[in-house]
Parts: sequence; C-alpha cells; structure tokens
Amino acid sequence: MERGKPQHILQLSEEQRRRFVDSFDRVLSDIDGVVWNVESSVPRAVDGYAALQRAGKDVVFVTNNSVRTVDQCVRRFEKLGLHVAPQQVWHPAQSIVLYLRDIQFEGLIYVIASAPFKAVLREAGYQLLDGPNEFIEESYDSLAKTIFDRQPVRAVIIDVDFNLTSPKLLRAHMYLRHPECLLIGGATDRLLPVAKGVNIIGPGPFASILVEASGQQALTLGKPGRELGELLIKRLKISEPHRVLMVGDMLAQDIRFGRQCGFQTLLVLSGGCSLEQLQAETSPDLVPDYYADTVADVAQLLGEEPKSHV
Ligand SMILES: [Mg+2]
Repeated sequence: MERGKPQHILQLSEEQRRRFVDSFDRVLSDIDGVVWNVESSVPRAVDGYAALQRAGKDVVFVTNNSVRTVDQCVRRFEKLGLHVAPQQVWHPAQSIVLYLRDIQFEGLIYVIASAPFKAVLREAGYQLLDGPNEFIEESYDSLAKTIFDRQPVRAVIIDVDFNLTSPKLLRAHMYLRHPECLLIGGATDRLLPVAKGVNIIGPGPFASILVEASGQQALTLGKPGRELGELLIKRLKISEPHRVLMVGDMLAQDIRFGRQCGFQTLLVLSGGCSLEQLQAETSPDLVPDYYADTVADVAQLLGEEPKSHV
C-alpha cells in the first residue's frame, strides 16, 4: 500500500471503505486504551468487535498486560457484553511460556515480574527464583550476599514489577554474566498511560538497564518484540500478514509491532495517543495506515448504527 497520511476510517469514501473491509480477515487488537482504560470502559468499544465478528473477521487480543490474569480479562469482557474465549487473549507471560517450550528451555529462571505473571510460568512447570522481597541492610556485605548467587540460572525474565528494587536488577545482572543465560523481556512499554494525560514509567527503561549492563539484547515477547511477532505468525498460521489488521492506542507498541510484522495498522485515539501526537509523528515505523476516534467507529464503518453524537 502507498504510504501517505493516515486516514480516519469514517472519512473513507464508500468504495475505499469496501476495499478496506475486504482487505483483512483477521484483527489483532490491543486491550488497554482500546477496550477500556484503567478505570473506565471505552463507550461502545465492544460493539466494534461484535461487528467485526459478525462480518466474519477473526479477532484475537494481544495485550502487553500480564498483571491481570486471562480469566479476569475474559470476565471483564463478559461484563461489557462481549464473549471472548481464553484462547483469544495473548499476553507476555503466556507468550514467554510458548517461546520457552519452542526452544526446549530447561533450567532455573530468575524473574522480575508481578505475582500473576510468575503464576503462569509456575503453572507451566518452570522453576523460578525471585526477590529479595524485603529491604536489605545498607552495606556492601549485605548487598553481596543478596546478589551473588551460585544457583544455575539460565534465563532472566523482566516484566512489570510494582516492587522492583535495585538489588533485584543487580542480582539479575550477575546471572546474566553466564554466557548461556538468556535475557527475556515481556512488556517493554517506556511509558504507561494511567489517566488522561498522565503517563508513568513503564517496564521498558528497567529492562534497558539490564540490556545495557549485560551487553546482551533481550528476546522480547511483548509488543513490539520481534520474537512475539514470529511466535504469533507461526501459532496463528498467518500466511498473508498484509491481510491482518493490528488495532491499538500506542504508536511505539501497537503500530510499530504491526508495521514490523507486515500487518495493516489502525490507531484508536481512546488511550495513550492524542490526535496531535499522531499528526506530529513522522517515523514511517510509527505512522499507522488508518486511525479512528475509538474502536466503536469500526461498527459504523461496517454499516451498523452510527455513534449517537454524530
Ligand atoms: Mg494499549
């Protein structure tokens, strides 16, 4: 497709709309900032997915958020009136499990992540180390006892950890000195939108500390990770990436991921990116093919009742 300025899906002509709708069979969609934000749901977002499913499009949700479980996610969808099967939700903890199985990983894993994230790995049979989970005494002696550990750790995994501490990062770095120890990242978001106009530091900068200190690139199983793209394409048997539409609210995660995988991309303005930020973006890796106010616009695009305020 010719790359120009992204078009609002409701400003397409009849003919362009038809061609766009016919141009994809599968939708990969982000969740946070698209279906709901931290506290509120995006009005009528679920209507967009229902319309896509009625139009015969296959919908899979690909989130970077492993802090909540798939079950919690499915229940929240259910409350909004959309039936989503657990297999329709992909998140980094689960993608890492699939990846570790693919490479027949064996060995101890040191994890910096949330409790639900660690539970997914434990349930898959992996043996984990974590911590320290309490403050250490402020002395090099005490620090040394905490971070120098002779256990044969062969992978360090980092995702969102609300209780991330310097001793955890230092300990991870020590394990990474072993030439066979893998560095695996889940979510690498540099900023996390938590409220309108408020972004907090995401897990990305902390993962970058380990990349920089170890001199090792991370294998990334969250968006926009290359390893996640390869895994999804293989597991979902995607043979024509251009017939996939990636929907999301973040340029650096969703749009970059979609473009990297060769998918079409649709940015929605209901989450972490404003129209001004979209219009200011010039990097071809980050400019989407299309945009919409919210995913509810997709229902209208597909010929269902228009939004009430239009
Ligand atoms: Mg999002």
